[in-house]
Amino acid sequence: MPEHRPPGPPRPTPPPVVREHLPVRPIWLCRVCGGPWPCSPARAHLRQEYAGCLVTLAVHLAGLMLEADDELNRLHPYTAPPPGMLHHRFLGWLRPRAPRSASVGDQEVCVKVEINLDANLLINRVGGVGVGWG
Ligand SMILES: [Zn+2]
Repeated sequence: MPEHRPPGPPRPTPPPVVREHLPVRPIWLCRVCGGPWPCSPARAHLRQEYAGCLVTLAVHLAGLMLEADDELNRLHPYTAPPPGMLHHRFLGWLRPRAPRSASVGDQEVCVKVEINLDANLLINRVGGVGVGWG
């Protein structure tokens, strides 16, 4: 009795593709899930990547927010998201959910970063992470 063989060589299983939730510019939507960037998976990734350096993350996101504002206003000058909406989208999620005391040893963490740009963006961190418009 002849041996039964499947047609052709066996196909190797490709490794799973890990796609990062990065923005498609200039529309600033996630290239994986299509949501407004930073989407929930992107936020989780950023929180993990910048663990312990949330002020640095806030400054990074503030720069991206300004780039998004510029690009979205060029793309859709009459329907681009207003600055407050972009602020909430890029920085508002960094706020802690519950008030907490942030301290390093006996010293309270108090960092204030000001960026003097046209938008008069002000980033504060006092006792945790707080980001707001000045
Ligand atoms: Zn996404």
